[in-house]
Amino acid sequence: MYISDLNQRLSNLGAQAVHRERIVRAWLQGRALHTGARRCDTEAFLPLSVRQGLPQLTHDLDQLARVRSEHPADDGSVRLLLDLPDGQMVESVLLPRDGVCISTQVGCAVGCRFCMTGKSGLLRQVSSLEMVAQVVQARRRRPVKKVVFMGMGEPAHNLDNVLEAIDVLGTDAFIGHKNLVLSTVGDRRVFERLPTLRVKPALALSLHTTKADLRVHLLPKAPIISPEELLELGESYARLVNYPIQVQWTLLKGVNDGDDELDAILRLFKGKYAVLNLIPFNALEGDDYQRPDGQRIIDIVRYLHSRGVITKVRNSAGQEVDGGCGQLRARAVDLVNT
Ligand code: SF4
Repeated sequence: MYISDLNQRLSNLGAQAVHRERIVRAWLQGRALHTGARRCDTEAFLPLSVRQGLPQLTHDLDQLARVRSEHPADDGSVRLLLDLPDGQMVESVLLPRDGVCISTQVGCAVGCRFCMTGKSGLLRQVSSLEMVAQVVQARRRRPVKKVVFMGMGEPAHNLDNVLEAIDVLGTDAFIGHKNLVLSTVGDRRVFERLPTLRVKPALALSLHTTKADLRVHLLPKAPIISPEELLELGESYARLVNYPIQVQWTLLKGVNDGDDELDAILRLFKGKYAVLNLIPFNALEGDDYQRPDGQRIIDIVRYLHSRGVITKVRNSAGQEVDGGCGQLRARAVDLVNT
């Protein structure tokens, strides 16, 4: 079901715009639409035909992303394993400080070498309403004021659905536009579409290296776009919306943590409205990569920061429950152990 399907169903039941708004907003807040014999607040003042359709609608919305299991971590994050209506699975992560990280695809075609999601390839797209349903599941558990599109999948490869979800979350779910964060490896369609939207999300660019050839190796199926052009395109958008571009950099020991990269970062970031997020690599089964040691990470941050690049270390939430960046996947095969 897509957002357009939900609107059509409500319209078919006889719902006017005001009724649609009440029902959709209640659902987005994680509130009940229908509670049986005793009417809940949402049902008050709705036409009879709409009220009669609510039990089935509630059932169908509940099928969009059903929580199969929850995996809380000590840092306050919770990894949710979710069943989609066709039996596929995605994961989302409740983040500390009222955020949720959601998935936009089952699997991913980009195949980044340091990411578990990419190892399965793309299995299917996640619909706009299935994305929103992940936020609803999060809101049933805790307040959500920030949604990051950084779970399984490359949002640019499912752009229409992602933008539809962003529009609903930024309007009917009342999430601040800069608290909606679209992440991409860099796709020109993103830079064309975002400036035209009424809800303009914040943008995160997955850069990972300043070296074009290394980037092709690390992100084998990402669009070919030079780091310089990527930062230029990001800069234009950042100036338009007036919030900085977030540049994502998974730190891989001996691969992209050298002094040559740091000096290239200084050149690339000069005059840019951008923040660099360093994400120390999260261990994956059967992988050769390692994160740099703690002192090297501190040295990198000091070096860049003292030369004018705003640099933050983002230790992924939920690593101990495999909920960190690059650790999400459709766990069909090892469900019994999770
Ligand atoms: Fe896809 Fe993102 Fe994983 Fe790369 S890091 S394979 S873009 S999910």
